This record gives sequence, C-alpha cells and structure tokens, in this order.
Amino acid sequence: MSIEKVEVLVVGGGQAGLAMSEHLDNCDLPHLVLERHRIAERWRTARWDSLVANGPAWHDKFPGLDFIDTNPDAFPPKEKVADYFVEYAKKIAAPIRCGVEVKEVRRNVHRPGFHIQTSQGEIEATYVIAATGPFQHPIFPAIVPEEEGIMQIHSNAYRNPGQLPEGAVLVVGAGSSGTQIADELLRAGKRVFLSVGPHSRYPRRYRRHDYCWWLGVLGLWDIEAPEPGAKHVTIAVSGAYGGYTVDFRHLAARGMTLVGRAERFRDGVMAFAPGLAGNLAKGDADYTSVLDAADAYVARNGLDLPEEPDARALDPDPDCVGDPILELDLAKAGVTSIIWATGYDVDYSWLKVDTFDEKGQPKHSRGVSAESGVYFLGLPWLSRRGSSFIWGVWHDARYLAHHISTHRGYMAYHSSARRKILGA
Ligand SMILES: Cc1cc2nc3c(=O)[nH]c(=O)nc-3n(C[C@H](O)[C@H](O)[C@H](O)COP(=O)(O)OP(=O)(O)OC[C@H]3O[C@@H](n4cnc5c(N)ncnc54)[C@H](O)[C@@H]3O)c2cc1C
Repeated sequence: MSIEKVEVLVVGGGQAGLAMSEHLDNCDLPHLVLERHRIAERWRTARWDSLVANGPAWHDKFPGLDFIDTNPDAFPPKEKVADYFVEYAKKIAAPIRCGVEVKEVRRNVHRPGFHIQTSQGEIEATYVIAATGPFQHPIFPAIVPEEEGIMQIHSNAYRNPGQLPEGAVLVVGAGSSGTQIADELLRAGKRVFLSVGPHSRYPRRYRRHDYCWWLGVLGLWDIEAPEPGAKHVTIAVSGAYGGYTVDFRHLAARGMTLVGRAERFRDGVMAFAPGLAGNLAKGDADYTSVLDAADAYVARNGLDLPEEPDARALDPDPDCVGDPILELDLAKAGVTSIIWATGYDVDYSWLKVDTFDEKGQPKHSRGVSAESGVYFLGLPWLSRRGSSFIWGVWHDARYLAHHISTHRGYMAYHSSARRKILGA
C-alpha cells in the first residue's frame, strides 16, 4: 500500500484541531486533520443532555464566526456548540477526514518526520500536532467496591436524572460539572449530597457584565501558570438556566447536603475530609477578589457601570457546613448512586515519541514538545488559563503555526545550503 505524505498532521477534529487548521492555512502550511469520529464529537456524545456552554455566545467562540440565530448573551446548548464547529470547518474549508483514527505515531530513524499508522493506512508527516483534547480519560478513585451494589458513573457518562436508580445520590466534585449535575438532580426531586473540595468560583454577572468579560479585561484569562499548589483547583461556574453564580450556600438552602472531600470508604461508610467551611471560604475569597478587581478597574477607567453592593452579601453557613458530616453510611442515607465528577486525564498511548514524563504527562513549552516536530494543543494551562477553552485554544494554535513556519524556514535554508555545497 502506498504511503500518503503530508507536511503537517493534526490529530483530532475538535475545536483545537480546527483552530490549528485555520492558522496552518494562514501560514500556507499544507496539512491534514484526522478525526476518529465526527467534528467536535465530544460536545455531542461525551456530555450530559442539558449541558450548555459555560460562557455566553459572544465569548465562547472563535474570532471569525458568531453563533447563528443566538442571542450573544445566551449560553448555547451543547448540540449548537458542536454545530458551530461543523460550520466553522466549512467556513475555513478545513482539510479534515472524519472516521479515521490515528493508531500510532513514530519518529523516523535518521531522517526528519514521523511515520503514522491510521485505521485507514499509513502516512508520513514532517510535523504532528496532538489535538486530542484535554479531557480524554475519565478518572475517579476506585474506593467504593463494585460489590456494594451502588451505581457508580463518571460525569462523562451522566446524561440525565432518569438514568439513576431511585434513591439519594452522592455527587463527588464541585467544579462546573459536579455542581451543574448536582443542581439538575436536586431540581429533579432527588436527595443530593455534594462533596465539595477546594475550588474557585466567580460572580456570573457583576456590574452588568458576565464574569468572562471581567476575566478578560482584568487579564485573568492570560495568567500563565496556576498559583503554586493550585493546579487542580476547579472552577465552579454555570451557564445553565440562563446562567447563575454558583453559591454552595444557596444550593444547601434549597435542600442539598454539602459534605467535604470524599476520602475513603469502609464497611458501607464514606468518610469525608474536614475543611468544608475552609473550602467554601477559599471559593468566597476568589469570588470577592474578582469583585474587588472589577471595582478598581471601573474606578480607574471611569466606566459607567452601576455599583452592585448586594453582590458582596454572603449568606451564613448552613448547618451542613457549620456541623459537617464526616462519615456517611450510604445505605442508611439511602444513597443508591455516586457520580464522580473528579476530572480527566490525557491518553497519548498512540504517540510513541520521547516527550513524556514518568507520569505520562507531555513535556512541552507552550505546546512545543521536547521531541522536535511534535506539538500539543488544547491542554489546560498550555500557555495560559484560557488554553483549554474555546477562545483560548485559538490563540495557542496561532503560536504553534508560527513556530512550525519558523522551523520550516530553518529546514528550507538547510536544504538550499546543502544543494549549494553539492553544486546542484
Ligand atoms: C463538561 C464540559 C463542559 C465544557 N464547557 C466548556 C464551555 O462552555 N466553554 C469552553 O470554552 N470550554 C468548555 N469545556 C472545555 C473544552 O472547551 C472542551 O473540553 C473541548 O471539547 C476541548 O476541545 P478539544 O478540541 O481540545 O478536544 P476534544 O473536544 O476532546 O476533541 C478532540 C478530538 O480528538 C479526537 N481524537 C482523539 N484521539 C484520536 C485519535 N487517536 N485519532 C483521531 N482522532 C482522535 C476525538 O474524537 C475528539 O473529537 C468543557 C469541557 C467539559 C468536559
């Protein structure tokens, strides 16, 4: 079978792969995007039914296209987000081939480039960009044995309340996914326990503007590295039900029971770490810091945005925070299901090159890997806080395209210099 040759191979046809395609094209870099399923597949099939974008339509998009028939301040449903990317692929005429899985990438021996094994044949590429997503492999601690007879799923397998058995549910993890799922289950009439660890939370709207706007003008999307020790702190925001500020005390006031971080399980009893009140206080501090920074920005720039003192009023801690449950007998509490909203890991088992640390995490600087010719895109904190989000990945893709273009220039110089030496 003949081997197809491409200059740049992009693996993955989600938002990262499409952003990459646009910038490669702008740099006149011939390329091919391979997607094993459909464009933006994860938005269609790896999320729950009611999911909407966490950011408003004017913000969670690429610069070159607006959402069609959508109020810019609304939060588009997940199908609309996926449709948006299909539309975008058409607009930029992305050379994308769907239904093709990349099985293996290996560096060529004693010559530049890579040999790629796909589900539909072999490819040779000079550059390979891994745009396979920040959230590939669901992770959750195997602390509750299957024999306990409790239904356990990861948030990526949650679809809707009807999927769960009768009885109470424990949602572990209070980032955006866990909080939104717990809220949906509470609204569906379920008894809900929500395990809340360290987190950040922001005001959904303050002084007339969405938090996405505030983080933008305050330069907070552009922060280049998480605070030391804060790498895994999750952000609790929601665009559901028209968008609202996540306030765990409000959820408790509506009947949700907050518990601390789930630590271990023995003899039917789940143990939760102390420190729930501290976790809430840390979230409050982040929330208030945005209000403070926004107020200072308004004052400094003389913006005509009305004051909003009520935003600073926090309810007192509910009983479940003041006197937290440290141990819960799940059967006695009627808990029949657990949803682990505990995050994801990457899976680069197909990428057989030398750029991973001992934990399998990619070694890179702004997406430029330790293995020349291999690039990563779409990962959290790739270059800044916004890197794994729709608007952020677009800017990172531009950087990578320029990096490849520059590298290609060096290689072109080498080839012409060599030709001169050989007198060709
Ligand atoms: C629940 C949830 C809600 C989110 N909401 C928002 C939001 O509102 N706003 C926002 O900005 N961000 C949001 N994000 C973050 C981010 O925008 C999404 O995770 C987005 O899907 C990431 O896009 P991506 O292209 O980097 O990766 P993905 O969407 O995961 O795309 C990667 C693609 O690569 C393909 N692929 C993987 N391996 C191979 C292979 N070997 N060969 C070929 N193809 C392969 C996959 O099929 C997939 O289509 C959310 C994330 C989650 C989990």
